[in-house]
Amino acid sequence: MKYRLETQCLHEGYTPENGMSRQLPIYQSTTFKYDSSDDMGRLFDLEAEGYFYTRLQNPTNDAVAARICALEGGVAAMLTSSGQAANFFAIFNICEAGDHFIASTSIYGGTFNLFGVTLKKMGIECTFIDQTLPEEELAKLFRPNTKALFGETITNPSVSVLDIEKFARLAHSHGVPLIIDNTFATPVNCRPFEWGADIVTHSTTKYMDGHAVGVGGCIVDSGNFDWMRDPSRFPGLTTPDDSYHGIIYAERFGKKAYITKATSQLMRDFGSIQSPQNAFYLNLGLETLALRMKRHCESALAVAKFLKTQDKVAWVHFPELEGDEYYDLAQKYLPNGSCGVVAFAVKGGRETAVRFMDKLQLAAIMTHVADSSTCLLHPASHTHRQLSDEQLSAAGVAPDLIRLSVGIEDVRDIIDDLTQALECV
Ligand SMILES: *Cc1c(COP(=O)(O)O)cnc(C)c1O
Repeated sequence: MKYRLETQCLHEGYTPENGMSRQLPIYQSTTFKYDSSDDMGRLFDLEAEGYFYTRLQNPTNDAVAARICALEGGVAAMLTSSGQAANFFAIFNICEAGDHFIASTSIYGGTFNLFGVTLKKMGIECTFIDQTLPEEELAKLFRPNTKALFGETITNPSVSVLDIEKFARLAHSHGVPLIIDNTFATPVNCRPFEWGADIVTHSTTKYMDGHAVGVGGCIVDSGNFDWMRDPSRFPGLTTPDDSYHGIIYAERFGKKAYITKATSQLMRDFGSIQSPQNAFYLNLGLETLALRMKRHCESALAVAKFLKTQDKVAWVHFPELEGDEYYDLAQKYLPNGSCGVVAFAVKGGRETAVRFMDKLQLAAIMTHVADSSTCLLHPASHTHRQLSDEQLSAAGVAPDLIRLSVGIEDVRDIIDDLTQALECV
């Protein structure tokens, strides 16, 4: 039976057999035992499926990956130790020294550094683009060695909504896959594969975990991108892997080639696994993801509307707010809700932002977002504090921007807290 999303949150990935534990067991084991040397050999040849070492695969992790895979509507998925590892693997699985890819400039700061600084040191060049530019402008930036296009469904921290169909058309007309970081929207609110994305990544640290207990990531493949259409563009998938008995991933694994390569090559070599214990916590978070997202969105909209009426507030940005720059895109891609993150500013710039935040009692100042508990951050004073106002603007972050992550508390308490803090500035 094919279940609807809310049911999948509880039942995909792990189905207990007669008399088995109702909850997903934690396979807290580094390794797995075999009766014969041949049994084990076949696993190493990728001829049989099975577990041999947790750095490559673990049953707890696989069950959770399968759940996220089902939620996104993909064909294969893998967990990683963090969202950073997920985005690194997603790109590095198809790019090598001498290659190029394109990413929206308004993405999470950590991803921006990874793409612009660290990947550059590995010989991979990223061109950052303004995602709102017309298609014809963006098309000019693709090169013969371009291997991917990357964006976030809802950007962190500016909560802009990406025109995913536009990006998918651009990517596909240039023969490359579209990779979407769907962390803020989650599959509850947007399933990028339905709009043409090929690969989806997540920082599961955020809403999926939901309780701020485990850093983690995930990569899901739609199975829709045909690596063999232009095989010379993706040699890692279409030519023999010398480090794996000369296997050609695209021939041998078809729609699962991308994730199989990322597991058997990148995870083997970089070892950024999620611990089974963390995967267990993530699984608990997933059980209530649909419920929580509904509440986050309702409360964030109420908070955004409240902030909009306040004299001391300079501006409010939330894609579900009528009149917002991204309202139309949100209506299209996020009809059931966007996320719980609201970007806004109090009048008076950096200094007033800091005074306002220090007066809050319920909303906590934390380097975190998309959490059950309300929290907030002022990028100019925290994550981006080394940057000047000009550099901030270039990175798409207004110097006065406060990123408020609305939690699932009673929204009246959240609004009361904001009210008393605004009175103080
Ligand atoms: C937090 C975040 C990441 C990085 O994830 P970690 O789990 O912190 O490594 C990547 N993308 C987005 C959109 C994020 O919010």
